[in-house]
Amino acid sequence: MPDKYQIVVAGAGPGGCIFARDLARAGLDVVVFEKENRDALGHNWSDAVERIALQAIGIDVPAEDTVNRGPLVKKAGVADRPAAIFEEHAYPDMEVWAPDYCCKKEIQFRYITTDRRALAQLLVDQAMAAGVTFRFRQEVIAPVTAGGSSLSEISVTGIEVRDLETQRTTTVSASVTADDTGFASVLRTALPVETGIARPFTEDEFALVHRTVRKRDPAKIAGDRITDHYRYPYRTGYQWVQTLNEEEIDIGAGIKFNADTQGPQETVERFIARHPSITGTVVRGGGGRCLVGRSPYSLVAGGFVIIGDAGSQTIPMTGCGAGGAMIGGKLAAKAVISAAAEGKTDIAALWPYNLDWFVGSGRGANYAALTALRSILQKLPEESNAFLFKKDVFSGEMLTQSINGLFQAPTLPLMLKTFVRCLTRPGLLMQLNKATTLGTALYKHYQRYPANWNPDIFQQWCRTSDRLFSKAE
Ligand SMILES: Cc1cc2nc3c(=O)[nH]c(=O)nc-3n(C[C@H](O)[C@H](O)[C@H](O)COP(=O)(O)OP(=O)(O)OC[C@H]3O[C@@H](n4cnc5c(N)ncnc54)[C@H](O)[C@@H]3O)c2cc1C
Repeated sequence: MPDKYQIVVAGAGPGGCIFARDLARAGLDVVVFEKENRDALGHNWSDAVERIALQAIGIDVPAEDTVNRGPLVKKAGVADRPAAIFEEHAYPDMEVWAPDYCCKKEIQFRYITTDRRALAQLLVDQAMAAGVTFRFRQEVIAPVTAGGSSLSEISVTGIEVRDLETQRTTTVSASVTADDTGFASVLRTALPVETGIARPFTEDEFALVHRTVRKRDPAKIAGDRITDHYRYPYRTGYQWVQTLNEEEIDIGAGIKFNADTQGPQETVERFIARHPSITGTVVRGGGGRCLVGRSPYSLVAGGFVIIGDAGSQTIPMTGCGAGGAMIGGKLAAKAVISAAAEGKTDIAALWPYNLDWFVGSGRGANYAALTALRSILQKLPEESNAFLFKKDVFSGEMLTQSINGLFQAPTLPLMLKTFVRCLTRPGLLMQLNKATTLGTALYKHYQRYPANWNPDIFQQWCRTSDRLFSKAE
């Protein structure tokens, strides 16, 4: 194995694979180190993945009206892979119920239910076809750095890797190293604290998610009508149910990590207990921690980029991050390709990735605003949330925006409507006002993200960010 590559990627998640694929397609020499076996990549279930992100990476996503209309159609394949990656189910429209089921809103759910194991295999295939080298069962242990310890001075020059079969450790050098190791952010968090981007995610920044795909008893389905829906915000998080096909149903919940309430598994079991058509036969499923936190203020350093969960490119309202990771991978690759064309890999040369993520794509700015919104609204009692549903303050439009990862800045008519409908609840009104004011301030602040790398301007921008985020705590 050569010990020097142009690009080294830690982790073969969706973000790392797209990053590697695009760089190899541009003629760069890329290696991905992944600690698992290839077969273990992805989740043993299907996730709701953003249609727009799948399309952006070049996947031909079935049109909304070809899935889940009338009789369920078969899983759709994609052009370059005959095996299907999408479930029969898709959600063009979705019911979102209040936590107490008192009322519901119709939202547009811009996701498609995607088999994560099949997607992972497709992405590895595409990257390999482009010329990427994959090294499985190789654990990335630490970054190798040069220069000083501040963001201005540091440069990542490679990684230390352990072969999990032989336990041998080697050092691999690279011009650019990418951290796509998921929320553990193995490389980012091992950088010196002085860089300001090494902060590990806190417990508050996670939801605990559990999902189970169960067989349904055909004899009982007619008498046990279940419509696909979300229940949100419920028990500091959300609960969902979706019919995958005639025989299988997916039930899940995501609840604030360590919340002092029943866990997601218990929430799911309680739902199942009320529905006699859902049997005890588990088809697939699992769960774990899901990131709903905020990004480090820079996703780049000298010779270094951060992609996917490692940089919290997840929608804070739902924890959906496969789409954000793939978009992140694409944008990071774009910046590295431009920098490489100029023979550069320093922080200034890689800075356009920050700009594209936080401003150009709008994702960073939206996610930052939603993080503050989530943080404040999550503390409201469930009864207040149900009240906001009934009064249509949590409207279909508002829920459509936030569940799809977009922050909706309050307009004057919206503010007036909220004020009139919540007049009897001044305390609640104050909390709502705080959440939307802070969300708007953060959104605008992120739109003013420094256009170029300038340590002084960036530090000033970071201080304002800290001040704004602290108000949400
Ligand atoms: C229960 C659950 C449900 C979810 N549901 C959804 C959903 O419905 N929709 C959605 O969009 N997202 C969902 N997510 C989130 C989504 O899975 C992640 O946001 C997404 O996978 C992040 O992609 P990534 O590229 O950051 O890499 P990840 O998918 O996090 O992959 C990281 C890779 O790095 C490897 N790795 C880690 N450490 C090392 C190391 N030291 N050395 C080498 N390799 C390493 C891992 O083995 C893994 O393959 C869910 C997450 C969970 C836990």
